[in-house]
Amino acid sequence: MYSENIFTKIIKKAINSEVVFENEYVLVINDIAPKAKNHWLILPKNNYSDLKDFLNNASEDEQLAFFDCIKNFLNKVEYANVQFNIGEKAGQEVMHLHAHIISDY
Ligand code: AMP
Repeated sequence: MYSENIFTKIIKKAINSEVVFENEYVLVINDIAPKAKNHWLILPKNNYSDLKDFLNNASEDEQLAFFDCIKNFLNKVEYANVQFNIGEKAGQEVMHLHAHIISDY
């Protein structure tokens, strides 16, 4: 079940954020509380609550665009942690799919 949240508002540009990349399918922003020198959040523009919802329901084009974007950002750094939190009990705070890419390198 999907509901409005901070990332929905960021995607609609109702709230400001530091956008580092955008195309038809994805938005990449800097995390507001970075855990390393680079802490990017990769968001699909359409509404999926988490990775499981996305993998089960997103179109092939959306999935390709999302993972292609992750690839492009991983190619900017040598080492990184990539994190998906799935569900509140696993620490997910914002219920709109986002990949964390966290890197000091
Ligand atoms: P998660 O726990 O996986 O849901 O992560 C949510 C992330 O969103 C956290 O790392 C927050 O620091 C980040 N965050 C929350 N609000 C904003 C915002 N307005 N702009 C950018 N990042 C945000």
